[in-house]
Amino acid sequence: MSNLIVDIAVGVSVNKTFHYRVPEEMQGDLVPGSRVLVPFGSRRIPGTVMGFPGRAEAADLKSVIKVLDNPLPCDLLELARWMSDYYMYPLGQTVESVVPKALFRAKPKKKKYVRLLTNPSPGGKRDRVRGKKQAELVCLLSDREEMSIDELGAFSAQTVKSLREAGIIEVLEREAAASAPGEFTPTIPPELMTEQREAVRRIDEAVSSGSFGVFLLHGVTGSGKTEVYLHAIKQLAGVGKGAIVLAPEIALTPQLLSRFCRRFGDRVAVLHSGLTDRERADEYRRIQTGRVDVAIGARSAVFAPFENVGLIIVDEEHENSYKQDEGLRYHARDVAIMRAKFRNAVAVLGSATPSLESYYNAMNNKYQYLRLERRVDHRPMPAVEIIDVKALPKQELYSPRLLSDIRQRLEKNEQTLLLLNRRGFSSVLICRECGAAIKCPSCSVSLTYHKPEQKLKCHYCGHLTRPPDKCPGCGGIELALIGSGTQKIEEELQAFFPAARLRRMDSDAVKGKQAYDELLRQVDRREVDILLGTQMIAKGHDFPAVTLVGVVDADVGLNLPDFRSAEKTFQLITQAAGRAGRGETSGEVIIQTMNPNHYSIQHSRTHDYEGFYNEEIVFRTELGYPPIGRIIKLEFKSPQESLAAEAAKTAQNRISKLMRGKGTVLLGPAPAPLSRLRGQYRFQLLLLSQKREAIRSLAIEGRNAVEEKFGRKCKVIVDVDPINLM
Ligand code: ADP
Ligand code: ZN
Repeated sequence: MSNLIVDIAVGVSVNKTFHYRVPEEMQGDLVPGSRVLVPFGSRRIPGTVMGFPGRAEAADLKSVIKVLDNPLPCDLLELARWMSDYYMYPLGQTVESVVPKALFRAKPKKKKYVRLLTNPSPGGKRDRVRGKKQAELVCLLSDREEMSIDELGAFSAQTVKSLREAGIIEVLEREAAASAPGEFTPTIPPELMTEQREAVRRIDEAVSSGSFGVFLLHGVTGSGKTEVYLHAIKQLAGVGKGAIVLAPEIALTPQLLSRFCRRFGDRVAVLHSGLTDRERADEYRRIQTGRVDVAIGARSAVFAPFENVGLIIVDEEHENSYKQDEGLRYHARDVAIMRAKFRNAVAVLGSATPSLESYYNAMNNKYQYLRLERRVDHRPMPAVEIIDVKALPKQELYSPRLLSDIRQRLEKNEQTLLLLNRRGFSSVLICRECGAAIKCPSCSVSLTYHKPEQKLKCHYCGHLTRPPDKCPGCGGIELALIGSGTQKIEEELQAFFPAARLRRMDSDAVKGKQAYDELLRQVDRREVDILLGTQMIAKGHDFPAVTLVGVVDADVGLNLPDFRSAEKTFQLITQAAGRAGRGETSGEVIIQTMNPNHYSIQHSRTHDYEGFYNEEIVFRTELGYPPIGRIIKLEFKSPQESLAAEAAKTAQNRISKLMRGKGTVLLGPAPAPLSRLRGQYRFQLLLLSQKREAIRSLAIEGRNAVEEKFGRKCKVIVDVDPINLM
């Protein structure tokens, strides 16, 4: 009787699930997590079975139409329930966001594989191995168990044939990875260094104990964190558990992916934004059917549908891109930890510059702390020099020191990275008469001049316009370009060094994943002398020939109205500096700034994370900001300014009536720093408390108050643990 009715979550914006009748022929097929097609109003939409209530909510139930795909693993269902509650987002839409949009059955490609028949042991079959090439292949296979035929480029068909005839290996045919990133020469893993070995040992121990645990792997840039991940995953594949590796989209370079593929062949699933829907669906199916040991991808790969996840790694855990900034505003790092918890698995957060949140948790023994103090092979950390640009003549971007250092690198045929975290040619067009900058008509930000198109562009909504002849405010005719972006830097630099092979990397110059990957390959092949760009160049790359990193203007992020601005600046500079001197030759870093004494700059000079943390945590504690307190942000949006303001006021009234006791703070309402975006006026309220539960119910009350009074006329967005306060 009880399985006649089923409770289904569908992707609609009401926070409830719906009952359906199960047709008789389907009754054995449905389990919690099953994906089904159901009628909804006049549409047919996908949904997910949440459970089997004993009794129906209504007499005239509609019936499930059909079963769509494999069920979601139980822990994902549980995770969705948790996210819906924690992020205050409708359950049906939350469940929908953990399944890829186009999950359908695709015809899989087939591929040939070789593997060892039995592990050769001394005195066993190994004595039938003839010659160096055969021995090498056997050695690789005993480490990898299985390799696809096209990974065997270095071995002749004859080598494979002989080993097969000797009964040492077998050749089989199976489904291939949809996105197998090509032919990679497999490598034998390096011997771990002491600190790495200890980290791997502790992670392995936790994984095999089968209980939940979180590690913070704090290792300076180039200390071999990725190598630790690879070893820990290796142990896992042996016990039939899956591993997930999260990396920021920008770090999913061919370089990183090939390191995983060389180690695990096509038992790697790659989930990056460059996949087509169909490829993504293929990868999901390979994961679901146990053909994959490790899934690597950006934020949403945390939902990779492994039946049995043993390890979830979050590389560069401090990266803000882990926070989704629309819809379900989840933080993939925190979701990864919860998924590990539901599955009794282990989460490893890796970074050279941990977020204050994670380091705080490690210091308070919520996480286990693993430290890699040294770079691989004891390569020294780069020397960092700070240059006060207040002393430079106005209009000059480059200090003589930076220029002469670049020249030296060019002479020695070494590479330079230059960071400037601002796109465009010049920052802004300013009216010399009234001093106002030309702004975007629909966002409250200045427009940026882009030289190739000779247009002004809004970096928020994309609005593109010709520079005006007159100031729209006062009618003044003397307009001037102020500040400098990557395009201007490029032009000036090329003038200094006409023969240098100079490339720019920012989202204007490099469009799409392929162009980005290709540029990285050119740097790797040393076809580029100077790579300059925005934060895109600071992330995770490992270029051994880079011996100089210049931060042209370290102050860009420092003056933002965001309590994390010092943390972000420290991270960006430290990460950028970490690109220098990763090869044989030691590296050097030049930081140009107007704030040479700022603690975030001083501590990045000495690579002193602890020093930075100790100062920053004092400030956070005083103000009750994270990681001490929790924040929930309420945002009110409307094309009408007065409406957005009034809605914020309404929420504020309701919340302040209910607020009691000490320790809860309500900030605002105030216009958001970007008070207008894409034509919408934005106001915000911030709720702060050490106790999440206290502000959670207040946030719900605030949202309800606005929905009761304004209905759909004003949009209320709840952002739990917000990263973006702009
Ligand atoms: P991180 O992720 O901390 O930046 P990586 O794992 O990328 O560091 O290591 C930096 C470089 O050192 C890579 O080229 C890597 O192959 C190499 N490496 C890492 N561990 C070892 C080791 N134990 N022995 C030799 N080389 C290593
Ligand atoms: Zn705009």
